[in-house]
Amino acid sequence: MNSDLVKLARAADYAARCHVDQQRKGIKAEPYINHLTEVTELLAEATGGNDVVLLLGGLLHDTDEDTDATPADLVRLFGQDVADLVAEVTDDKTLSQKERKRLQVEHAPHLSLRGKLLKIADKTSNLRGIVHSPPQGWSAERLKEYVAWAEEVVRSCRGLNAALEAKFDEAYREARRHYGA
Ligand code: ZN
Repeated sequence: MNSDLVKLARAADYAARCHVDQQRKGIKAEPYINHLTEVTELLAEATGGNDVVLLLGGLLHDTDEDTDATPADLVRLFGQDVADLVAEVTDDKTLSQKERKRLQVEHAPHLSLRGKLLKIADKTSNLRGIVHSPPQGWSAERLKEYVAWAEEVVRSCRGLNAALEAKFDEAYREARRHYGA
């Protein structure tokens, strides 16, 4: 039995169930799971699929923030390493949006190796998202600010995986072309 593949299948199923009622915030309102599979695919390609904890983190990284799943659920179902990774990239929801964004910039240099890779993949997916499906009601200024902020977070996560950074840079260039950030 390949237990890593079993865990991965289990996490995909779990994430899909946790986020079943959520859509991405763009005008196309894609199912939220598309973001999670995109992040996980980016991580798998960039690392040759060699780190199952990282891939589980990719699938589960928004469960803590956006669903009823708790850190204890993640420990029980997927182990402490995965729960720790998810916790590392989870914002404190009691804080304002502005403060959460500021803290992401502040915390980025202190993330673990996996946490940094996950951040880069997450921001890559989000920048691609705002280009092909911009959030409704966002002003040009807000879009521009978002692009600049994503780059600021990623700046402190660099130097670990050139292939993944190249994917981010491509998404960033494209977003800048659209929004002139
Ligand atoms: Zn995410």
